[in-house]
Amino acid sequence: MIIGGADRVNSVKFVKLKSGKIVRHVDEQYLRKDIPCGVSTCPLCDKNQQCNLQIEFVQHADVEMVEDEQVMRNRERIYIVDHLFTLNQYDFIENCEALSNFVLPDTVLRYLNRKNIQSFHGMKNLIEQEQRQIYYFYNENFKETHVKDTQFAGKGLDYKLKRKMAVAYDWYFQHLQGLTKGNKVYLLTDSLKAKQDYLSMLKGDDVKLNVITMEDFIVMNAARHPELMNYMGFAQQVDIESEQAAKDMSTSEELYEDHLTFDEMQIGIREGKYFKGRFMTSRVNMDEANALVDGLKDDLIILGLKNQNRALNGDTVCIQVLPEKDWVRNFKESDMVNAIDKEDPAQAISAADQEQGEEEREENIPPSKEKITLMQKINTEKERRVTAKVVGIIKPMNKTYGGSILSQQDQSAETRKKFDLFMRNMKIPAADIDLYRVFVPFNIQLPQVIVKALDPHALEKKRFILRIGKWMKYSPFPFGQFIRILGEEGKMNTESAMILHEFNVDTRPFSQKVIQCLPSAGAEWKIPQEEIDKRLDLRTYCVCSVDPIGCKDIDDALHCIELPNGNYEVGVHIADVTHFVRAGSEIDKEAARRCTTVYLVEKRTDMLPGLLTENLCSIRGGVERLTFSVIWEIDKTTLKAVKVDYRKTVIKSRAALDYYTAQKMIDNPDDHTDLTEGLRRLLKIATVLRDRRNLQGALTLASPEIKFKLDDKRENPTDASEYVHVSTHYMIEEFMLLANIAVAEKIVSHYPSFAVLRRHPQPKEKEIAAFVEQLNKQGFEVSMESSKTFAESLDRAYKPGNPFFNKLIRIMATRSMNQAVYFCLADFDVAEVFHYGLAVPLYTHFTSPIRRYADVLVHRLLAAAIDITSLTNDMTDKFKMARQCDQMNRKNRNARFASMASTELNTFLFFKNKQVERQGDIIEEAMVMRITKAGMFVMIKSFGVEGLIADSQYQKVQVDTEKEQALVNGAELVRPFDTLKIKILPESVEFRRQIKFIYISRIEVGEQVGAGDVEMAEEGGAGEQSLSEAKKSSKKRKNKQH
Ligand SMILES: [Zn+2]
Repeated sequence: MIIGGADRVNSVKFVKLKSGKIVRHVDEQYLRKDIPCGVSTCPLCDKNQQCNLQIEFVQHADVEMVEDEQVMRNRERIYIVDHLFTLNQYDFIENCEALSNFVLPDTVLRYLNRKNIQSFHGMKNLIEQEQRQIYYFYNENFKETHVKDTQFAGKGLDYKLKRKMAVAYDWYFQHLQGLTKGNKVYLLTDSLKAKQDYLSMLKGDDVKLNVITMEDFIVMNAARHPELMNYMGFAQQVDIESEQAAKDMSTSEELYEDHLTFDEMQIGIREGKYFKGRFMTSRVNMDEANALVDGLKDDLIILGLKNQNRALNGDTVCIQVLPEKDWVRNFKESDMVNAIDKEDPAQAISAADQEQGEEEREENIPPSKEKITLMQKINTEKERRVTAKVVGIIKPMNKTYGGSILSQQDQSAETRKKFDLFMRNMKIPAADIDLYRVFVPFNIQLPQVIVKALDPHALEKKRFILRIGKWMKYSPFPFGQFIRILGEEGKMNTESAMILHEFNVDTRPFSQKVIQCLPSAGAEWKIPQEEIDKRLDLRTYCVCSVDPIGCKDIDDALHCIELPNGNYEVGVHIADVTHFVRAGSEIDKEAARRCTTVYLVEKRTDMLPGLLTENLCSIRGGVERLTFSVIWEIDKTTLKAVKVDYRKTVIKSRAALDYYTAQKMIDNPDDHTDLTEGLRRLLKIATVLRDRRNLQGALTLASPEIKFKLDDKRENPTDASEYVHVSTHYMIEEFMLLANIAVAEKIVSHYPSFAVLRRHPQPKEKEIAAFVEQLNKQGFEVSMESSKTFAESLDRAYKPGNPFFNKLIRIMATRSMNQAVYFCLADFDVAEVFHYGLAVPLYTHFTSPIRRYADVLVHRLLAAAIDITSLTNDMTDKFKMARQCDQMNRKNRNARFASMASTELNTFLFFKNKQVERQGDIIEEAMVMRITKAGMFVMIKSFGVEGLIADSQYQKVQVDTEKEQALVNGAELVRPFDTLKIKILPESVEFRRQIKFIYISRIEVGEQVGAGDVEMAEEGGAGEQSLSEAKKSSKKRKNKQH
């Protein structure tokens, strides 16, 4: 548009402020004439402080004479990175310092923002790192390089973007001609195809010489940067998407129906022909999928790959309900493989999508009459499940995935068949066959992917991150493109890196800006006297901490003394993290993004930098620490709190104990030190508190917990055992609960509209129906009226002499329930937020601020509630708080799944090692948890490891889901809760780890030799047996579940 002779464009752009911060800015912009090229020595431009590009006149012959290579490394050439290279090789850009001194055009950053939000944020950080010499070039707003969108109507986005790149590059080339005597400016793209496209757009032959691919870049720089050769495999991958796009496929067999266009979908949804839904694949059978649709009671079932029509797990799809005759017999809950597990990693992965970019705004159009009729019909259908098919993809998941490529000889017969179909259907010349490989994603809910590389052998036996691209209707596989290598397949490091990637855990080191927020004295930091003066000084108190063995991030410590009036004083002292993490600071923003520390078997990924996590905040023994305390006076006879106080304090812990040491001290009758007497008092009070809570209807839940012993390098599990609980576990837990409840009450009384709390919704009858039915079949009545009646039902579901059954019931009850979640009180009535599992009206998280961001927020709320500080605007904004709660729930769930995957990995490695060691079969006892279409799900008694006994080459399993029983090898009838003897076979099939369970025989109850051993060990040494009913011998509670 031309107004008054000046070019004007409306645009969104990213503006780099003086502070170095880049912000998004929507504005009506006039094209500028004074944007510099960024070369610090350019005589033609008005330079600013951002002009950081270097060009030096180095004769090629002299290069080897230069001693300081760090200085010289990239001053010969300037690179302009294009959008494709930046998107597809982002990890290369981030990790490979040989690529510096480059121009990042505005167009590219905008493109990245739309395509991959994580890379976008990463790139913004990278620009700030001076040593990389990245110049952010406003090509879109520069008169010389601005390209009007209207020029290319009908040409497609790819063409338009390339055109913009070509124009920017051409300008640089011409602009720097005089300065560089030519040949100093390069356009870096990622494929031969793109290179050819650029060559056809550019006019001068000189210019064309300098369009290079990643492979060219590596070759040009490898002499001085040998590490670049590691990336050669990626550089040589071939863009099969564009290669195939050019082929004539008219004679190929169409495997799938065409997808609708975006407009067709929008109109169809509006008119009521289609629904919009979130697509999810079953974890057991890829042929089964479902879609969650707003307004529908049940999800729609999508059976068969044809009906799934190339949708990937997590995609937002457009679906059409199939005619009624195709609806299927009602699924019993037990038919649904995942029915009993409320927690499905699929949901976590799908939810990760919400972190991608901004939420699109939806037009709120009321559904048509036809659609309302159809929805009513679906919602009232009782006999059948409604089936549907995918007609288009509205929004792809757009995530990257970890996995491995299969060598051709490792392909299973089924994969081979698909591979051959691919070759035939996609018209691949026989000579090229060796260049193609099948990639197997780690996530079993994703299909195999096809990739093409010039040297695929170099990529075998490794783990990669890959992006799934286009899926043509003629192809049995989607196309993929490698992003990053993780390492050798099967190694703990590699596998853990993949787990963290799959669950969106940020493993990047903390940025310079975050580190700058830490005390400059570092580990030498001492508490300043004026800080001590402001606080309650408890340094002379006999405070101690009790944690798992080897715990380095110690959040909490306790004390208990007898007051002169005979009452007890109990103090719970929590690391004062907010003293170091100020609201709104860079370190706070980073913690708000990460939300939680993630624990894998062999390592932690911290929410806060190590200096705080392991040192300045960690309540180590013998060191003075700042704490935030809740202190009660507890009546000596009733053991009820008569007074509670919240104070900022300073303490000096006497000892950082582990559970077992603390237990031994308590149990040692000759130990009468202050420390031990304090612990005994705490245990005595905790026992009463716990009994009281149980009477109120708190549920005793359980999860199998397996503990691994690792070798010295922490690369292999050498031993596994069930986690042994002693009474000091619940002692600590009781006081943490007490503190959390007390803090919840305090912050709600002051900030009823935006307090951050935690709730555990009562399970809906339907959700827990499968579990209740199983209990009924075992002859136990279940009342779901309240958590109290449910708790009592669980207590009754007890079989004397069958401790594993009693424990399994608790585990299954836990599974069938919802997870507790964070929420902002603004969204709820106080009556709605009852914590079902704990049977308390209000609950929050206060006790672990080192590793949970919720606790950081709660510390700030509490500090404000007792008038120590005031709240920032963000904290009083209920919408912001609600959004932060969503983020915390998402990150928490991902962290939990990452931990589970790590346990699975180590379990597999453990059995694998054991198998090698023993050179024989591993035989274990297991109990049947449920029988589904897929087979029998069982849990091994000794470790709490779960597995599936499925129909396979090892055994014949005929399942009758109606009667909930399975006929094994045509002879033995198996039902839920039967005890079996099984063989464990750890196998890797196409790089997917599987622990196969093989049926040997059924064991009659009574025959179980040593079945009580585990229980004995658990309670062994559990000093005080005055706990609630001793019969609940297997009761445990995991703090994490609350
Ligand atoms: Zn210039």
